[in-house]
Amino acid sequence: MTSLASVNVPPTNHVMVLGGQGWIGLVDQMGTETTVVNAARVSFGKMRREMDERDVQLLRYLLENQHNTPLEHVVFTFLVHCPLFIRSQWHRHRTWSYNEISRRYTEVDLQFYLPDTLRAQAASNRQASVQADDTMDQELCRSLIQQQNAAALATYEKLLSLGVCREQARGVLPQNLMTTFWASVDLSNLLKFIELRASEHAQWEIREYAEAIKTLIKDSIPNIAACYGWEVWQYTKNGPAALNTEHCPSQAFSTQGAGRFFDVYVI
Ligand SMILES: Cc1cc2nc3c(=O)[nH]c(=O)nc-3n(C[C@H](O)[C@H](O)[C@H](O)COP(=O)(O)OP(=O)(O)OC[C@H]3O[C@@H](n4cnc5c(N)ncnc54)[C@H](O)[C@@H]3O)c2cc1C
Repeated sequence: MTSLASVNVPPTNHVMVLGGQGWIGLVDQMGTETTVVNAARVSFGKMRREMDERDVQLLRYLLENQHNTPLEHVVFTFLVHCPLFIRSQWHRHRTWSYNEISRRYTEVDLQFYLPDTLRAQAASNRQASVQADDTMDQELCRSLIQQQNAAALATYEKLLSLGVCREQARGVLPQNLMTTFWASVDLSNLLKFIELRASEHAQWEIREYAEAIKTLIKDSIPNIAACYGWEVWQYTKNGPAALNTEHCPSQAFSTQGAGRFFDVYVI
């Protein structure tokens, strides 16, 4: 007998975001940090079953010198429940593989995101927002969004009842509509995603998901998470998040001489 579960229910291992209106779950994972060091060393015919201190040193070397390909042998699959406007930002990351619920197939279980707090437009940065001051009537703004969501849903249902197909009727649904998608990515591109989307330059809503991803995966990549100092994630103005060597578990390892590719890989 087969059993089908609703895609709109979070998997067991998940983190709630957006004040409980969205979530992201980790549904599958292939590979560990040991996979990364074994992939890095394969050209020397070495394999390890468990990580030791030298493997941690190698991991640091790979991260610091952007030898990213060994990271690509670790793959994560997430189930994401988010508003359409976050889905659009997420799907710009072309190195992920996606499959999404289709509103051509189903009209059930329509949910809309209603922000707990409305932010104001930033004065200096045209794509950013700032905390609103007391002059913004939060209750009125939330109620306007709620009314619009309800009106859009009513129009959508009316169109369906008049015989219009789902693929055209969905055009009246707003960007606040929640969607659910399946998303797989390798660790190298996931770290790039986190760097961009957990940044203060990213929209608050997608930052919630990027931070949730850290929570979901950090126990399975403890040394990498520590090297990035995820508890105290550091940003640089011009580029990638700085590696937090203070939090790197391998304090004994000196990065001096890390450029000697062969020495580091064969340890
Ligand atoms: C704060 C912020 C604001 C943004 N604002 C806008 C905006 O206003 N308008 C807008 O259109 N987008 C915007 N974006 C999206 C941005 O331009 C990127 O599309 C998105 O961040 C994905 O980055 P990526 O291409 O590095 O990721 P991925 O697509 O996952 O690619 C990862 C890496 O793989 C390589 N790669 C992947 N595909 C190709 C390819 N076809 N050719 C060559 N190399 C490839 C590149 O090295 C790339 O960095 C914004 C992103 C952020 C974080």
